[in-house]
Amino acid sequence: MKKIFFDSHAHLNNEGYSAKDREELAGMIKASEVSHVVDVGFDLGSSMLAAEHAKKYPWCYAAVGFHPHDAKDMDEDALRLIKGLARKDKVVAIGEIGLDYYRNLSSKDTQQHWFRRQIALALELDMPIIIHDRDANEDVMRILKEEGVFSAERMGKFPKNPVSGLPDARLLMHCFSGSAELASQYVKLGATISVAGPVTYRNARKAVEAVAAVPMECLVIETDAPYLAPEPFRGGVNASPLIKHTARKVAEIKGISLEETARITSDNAKRFFGLDI
Ligand SMILES: [Zn+2]
Repeated sequence: MKKIFFDSHAHLNNEGYSAKDREELAGMIKASEVSHVVDVGFDLGSSMLAAEHAKKYPWCYAAVGFHPHDAKDMDEDALRLIKGLARKDKVVAIGEIGLDYYRNLSSKDTQQHWFRRQIALALELDMPIIIHDRDANEDVMRILKEEGVFSAERMGKFPKNPVSGLPDARLLMHCFSGSAELASQYVKLGATISVAGPVTYRNARKAVEAVAAVPMECLVIETDAPYLAPEPFRGGVNASPLIKHTARKVAEIKGISLEETARITSDNAKRFFGLDI
C-alpha cells in the first residue's frame, strides 16, 4: 500500500473512543494509504492525549489548544499547561482555536478572550495556528489581524510559498466553510486552506467554489475524524483512511490526478507544519 495522504486534522483523542478503539484505529491507519495524521486538541485532556499519541506513533503529530466550545473551561493554569505541551517533541501547532457563533457553547466574550491569548502563545512560540471558524468570519479575520498573525514580524519568520511566492503566515483555516471570496482573501494574507469531507456532499456548491478559487499550493486536506465523513459514508463515523474520498473530489475540481492531489497536499502539509520528513 502506497502511503500518499497527509490527514492534517483528525481527533484520535476523541472522548468517545476507548483505549482499545484507539489502538484499533491506529492499526487501521498504519495499514492504510495515510502517511501522517495530525491529532488536534480541543481542551486540556485531548491536548495531552494528542501529545501522547505523537510520542507513541511514528506517523502521528499533535496540535494543542482549546476549541471555542471549551473556552469556558480555560484559565491561566490551563494556558500554562498548553504552553508546556506545545514545547514537546512532535507537537507542531496551536489548535484548534477560534470562534463558533453557531452553537455558542461558550459566551462570545469568553471565546474571544481565549482565542486572543492562544494566538499570542502561538506568536510567542513561532508556531503554526489551526483555526476553527463557524459563523464568525468577520470576528475571526479581525482578531487575527489585530493580534498580529499577518504582521511583518510574524511573516518574516517563515519562508514564502516556494510555488506562488505568496507570504506564509502559518495559519490553517480548518474545514473551510466560507465563500470563494473569503478563501481568496485569506490566501492573499498568507493562510492555507484545509478541505474536509463536506466538499463531497451533494449541496456543496460553496465549498467546491472555494476549492476552485484557491491555488493548489495553498490547499491541504483533512478528515476531522470522527466527524464529517465524506460521501459515500456521510452520516457515518469518519476515520483518516476515508480521506481519499475528499482527495478524489479535490482532484476532480482541480482537473488533476488523485496521485498528484495527494502529493501536492502532502507537500503543503509538511511545509505548513515545518516537517522535514
Ligand atoms: Zn476538529
